[in-house]
Formats: sequence, C-alpha cells, structure tokens
Amino acid sequence: MEGLKEENLKETRPKAKINEDRIWLSPPHMGGEEKALITEAIDSNWVAPGGPFLRKFEKVLSNFVQCQSSLALSSGTAALHLALRLLGIRQGDEVICSSFTFTASANPILYQGATPVFIDSELETWNMCPNALEQAVQSRIVNGKKPKAIILVHLYGMPAKLGEIIDISKKYKIPLIEDAAEALGSNYKGKALGTFGQMGIYSFNGNKIITTSGGGALVSENPDLIKKALFFATQAKDGAPHYEHSQLGYNYRMSNVCAAIGVAQMKVLSERIRRRREIYAYYEKHLSVIKGIEFLPEPKGFYSNRWLSCILIHPEYIKGVNREQLRLRLLRHNIESRLLWKPLHLQPLYRNFPYFGNKFSERLFERGLCLPSGSALTKDQLDFIIGIIKESF
Ligand SMILES: *Cc1c(COP(=O)(O)O)cnc(C)c1O
Repeated sequence: MEGLKEENLKETRPKAKINEDRIWLSPPHMGGEEKALITEAIDSNWVAPGGPFLRKFEKVLSNFVQCQSSLALSSGTAALHLALRLLGIRQGDEVICSSFTFTASANPILYQGATPVFIDSELETWNMCPNALEQAVQSRIVNGKKPKAIILVHLYGMPAKLGEIIDISKKYKIPLIEDAAEALGSNYKGKALGTFGQMGIYSFNGNKIITTSGGGALVSENPDLIKKALFFATQAKDGAPHYEHSQLGYNYRMSNVCAAIGVAQMKVLSERIRRRREIYAYYEKHLSVIKGIEFLPEPKGFYSNRWLSCILIHPEYIKGVNREQLRLRLLRHNIESRLLWKPLHLQPLYRNFPYFGNKFSERLFERGLCLPSGSALTKDQLDFIIGIIKESF
C-alpha cells in the first residue's frame, strides 16, 4: 500500500519554538481548580512522601468507576507492571495481549521476562478478537503452556467485546487485566471499563482524557491486591525499624502534588467525556458524507469516552488520498493528527513473538487517522479542521 514506507511514518516534530497556534491532538485541559489545590499541597508541606490528596484522589476515582479500591501510581505502565507482578508472572510465562495498541500495554510483560502472545483485532470495536483469543489459548495449551494472564486493551476509549472475552477468561481460568488507560469513563452495559477484570489500569498521562501531568492507577474489587500493590510500589519494605527487604519492589507511587491535580481533574471528568463525545459526533456528522471515510460506531451496550476521534480512509474511493497524505496536509495547516497505533506484532521489538489473527489490525493501521480530539477545541477550530479534510477529497 502506498505511503507506508518507514520514512513516511517518521513523526514531524514541532520546531524548537512551540507554535502557540498549533492545534494539538489531545493536549491537557485544566479545569480551573488545579492551581489552588497544588498550592494547598505545597502550603501543607505534603509535597512528599505521600499525603492527603492521594487518598482523596483514590476515593473519588474509586467512586467514579464504582470499584472497591484503587492505588494512585506514577504511570499507567507502572500500574500494568504491578498487576503482572501481583499475578506472579515471571520468566518463561506467557501473557496474552492485544496487538493493536501502544507499546506500553506489552512492555511490562518483557519487564517480567515473560513472553507476549499477541491477538489481532475484530472490526466492530477494533479491540481483541474473541475468536483469535480462544484459538490462541487452545493452541498454547496444546503446546504445553497455558497463558498466565490476558491484557485486554480498550483502545481509543471503545470497549472491547467484554462478554465473550470474560467467558473465555473464565472457561480457561486465565486472569484478565484491563488496560483502560485510554478508556476512563467508558462503560460496557453500564459498568465502568477497568472494573471487569481481576485488575484494571488507567493512565493520567498528559494526552489522556484527564491528566495528573503524569500518572496512573490500579483498580481492583479485591482490597488485598491493592494493599499488596502499595507494598510493591513503595520498595517492598518489610515491617522493621530499619529497612528490611525480602522481595523486589519499585518506586511507583504517585506524588501528592500530582494527586492534587488529579482531584481537580476528576471534578471535570464528566464534562470532558461529554465534550469528547460531542467532538466525535461533530466530525461524524460533517465527514461521514464523504465516500471513503469511515467512522467507528458504538455497538449497542458499548459506551466510549471517545478519547480520540478516529477515521478510516479507504483510498479505493478517493484517488490519491491516503491517511498519511492527509496527516501531512493537516500538518501544513499546523494541525496535529496521528496515524493509528502500529500493531505490536509488526514492531521490530515484538515481531518475533507469537501472533494470532487475520491481520485486521494491519488494515486499520494502513487506513486509520486520529483527528484532534482535545476537549478544549472550539467550534471554529473544528470547522477549520473539517474544512481542510473536505478540501482534500
Ligand atoms: C497511555 C497508555 C498506556 C501507558 O500509560 P502511561 O501513563 O503513559 O504509562 C498504556 N496503555 C495504553 C493503551 C495507553 O494509551
């Protein structure tokens, strides 16, 4: 397919001076109270270690997703790593993971010295295909190695086919970890994503639907798991007057200052979800009339936070325009867009690991583009972006 050569995929970085007029893909969007709460954290001297905003942030987060317990961490990646550690994943184990995702979904598998087994997407949600998943599980069992965990990603906020995937996880007794880094506020049949598996993770990185400047969280219905996660996240200190260690720990706790930002951001989360969904609907209304542009509708019972509005561009309908050409054209107008994630089974880091599926995710990668989706986008900016896309076809 044209436009797919590696040199065409290199990100064009903004020049040294940040252009204030640029329309970014998904920039941070402060709610207004962040500054006051950071000041409060500093005035109280709860800058480190720990502090009251951490507990508050965890409480509002648990309430929001209706989950027993949560732990605020330094990143979503750290949360995933802890989840694997808590399940006892170690060298030689196999862990199933969605292929169509960001590298952070799978990296913790390698941190543990385990082997990732990648599963392709289905085309209704773009997430892990239940058929390919079951095929993989059976094939690995025949091979003599039952996978120890499933990392299920809800990409761009869209819920995966949880009904079928939970059935498989139960049938074969393989624990499920939900990577809901992009899907805070999404739900499946009314229940929050991240709360279906044994554990779920969220990310509060700068480009996510809300941010703590950098951070993540681990959630679980089992408070004992979260207690253990806290132990590992704070260097695994055994109870002793001196520092005594019998296990390997990490420095993964979120800081109280970041948690203060998180508390302020949680107050506007519902509004952020509403606005992201509105932006998606606006693109869909104005662009779905173009033959060759396809959107991803929500199946019944699936509710996406629409973290990023994504389109597929089918070049067979529109001569000479593919997603990379559109990305470059938008960039010339100072608009940042991004190709869909390159499937992990195609990444140089991961291409020698097992993969099951029908290459649907490769098709998505070859055709997909994420459009600017920040909740602070104005109607004028959206109309400007839509105008340029329309002009391109
Ligand atoms: C952002 C992201 C992560 C990692 O979160 P960080 O907080 O950046 O470590 C993991 N998985 C997916 C799908 C993500 O988009």
